[in-house]
Amino acid sequence: MTHGKGRSLLMIPGPIEFEPAVLQALGEPTTSHVSAGFIETFGHVLEQMRDVWFSPSGQPFVVAGSGTLAMDMAGANLIEPGDHALVVITGVFGERFAQLLERYGAKVTAIRAPLGQAVETAEIETALSEASYKLMTLTHVDTSTGVRSDAQAFGKMGRKHGVLTVLDGVCSVAGEEIRQDEWGIDVVLTASQKAIGVPPGLALLVASPRAIDAFANRKAPVPNYYADWEKWLPVMAAYEKRTPSYFGTPPVNLISALAVSLDQIVDEGMEARFARHHRLGRAFQTGVDALGLRHVPSVERNRAVTLSAVYLPDSAESAALRSEMARSGIVIAGGLHPEIREKTIRIGHMGAVGPTDVLGTLAALERALLGLGCAMDPGAGTLAGQKALTQDMS
Ligand SMILES: *Cc1c(COP(=O)(O)O)cnc(C)c1O
Repeated sequence: MTHGKGRSLLMIPGPIEFEPAVLQALGEPTTSHVSAGFIETFGHVLEQMRDVWFSPSGQPFVVAGSGTLAMDMAGANLIEPGDHALVVITGVFGERFAQLLERYGAKVTAIRAPLGQAVETAEIETALSEASYKLMTLTHVDTSTGVRSDAQAFGKMGRKHGVLTVLDGVCSVAGEEIRQDEWGIDVVLTASQKAIGVPPGLALLVASPRAIDAFANRKAPVPNYYADWEKWLPVMAAYEKRTPSYFGTPPVNLISALAVSLDQIVDEGMEARFARHHRLGRAFQTGVDALGLRHVPSVERNRAVTLSAVYLPDSAESAALRSEMARSGIVIAGGLHPEIREKTIRIGHMGAVGPTDVLGTLAALERALLGLGCAMDPGAGTLAGQKALTQDMS
């Protein structure tokens, strides 16, 4: 993508840069939410979500709200007071899920990874064999640490032990590989503003038939009026059958923008999209390595490809570095995890990101570090990134 003068490049882990056609859909005249055109658009969105999630058997939900509402919908609809839940924590979003499930009356057992690490699959397996749980959650990519966990093993373990699995994919869906049905994951949730590529405002999730059954068999009413699947299931079913329906007014323009973005994602092809994210993410991280900086995730296997979380040299402060980079027209994020907030930066490279964005960000990072007086070989990071990007070219 290109960037006009006078505007900056947004390289944070959401909201991300959006495609012009997606933004254009937001500016179209708003139609009735029960107009024939919008019904077709919404129905198409629900069908496309099944493809992007790799979940032909799943039930998609599109509801106005942020990613936290998507988490809330999973908690509100699947937890009944006294249910046991296992929460796998690799950063602040795992902590959020534990609090959220407790709010709905769950008895939560948390497994916390040391900062920068993932929880070993064997440790989850042990927890599952020692006690019985109704549900477990995993943050696929925890945006506060950049740690990616093994979602495939998580789904498998859930099936083996008869535990419902909920994957917080807010920083991974449509960027990191996820195959919901094949991997046996019961809920995969996200928000519009990350790798899905639509401005903030939509909570998106796909629920498996097992999750819908668990919801249908609950004894206690859902203690949340807006998030109740009973309200939303008929609405989703109606739009998919191309008939009008209403519970809460759908955000017409955002859903039209989502239709544009999902079409672009499907046109790119999921395999090509996963490969592009991998190539660009790893190229950026190779550049970071060449600058002698350390990643928050301690091993490459646990490093997300959608974002990088990086420790700064002791002499550089996160806020100062970010304002230096802003002078180059590149916006990156500071630390989010409370233990490393001041010592880290986070760079998003997902969605409509290209090689020029990644190299430009590495180059700006080098200049910013130099500007703060850090010893630096200017060009070393950019060169390593460029070499990684051009590796397979003849
Ligand atoms: C961004 C994010 C959230 C929260 O989403 P909001 O849209 O900010 O509510 C939850 N989980 C993860 C992994 C995220 O990256």
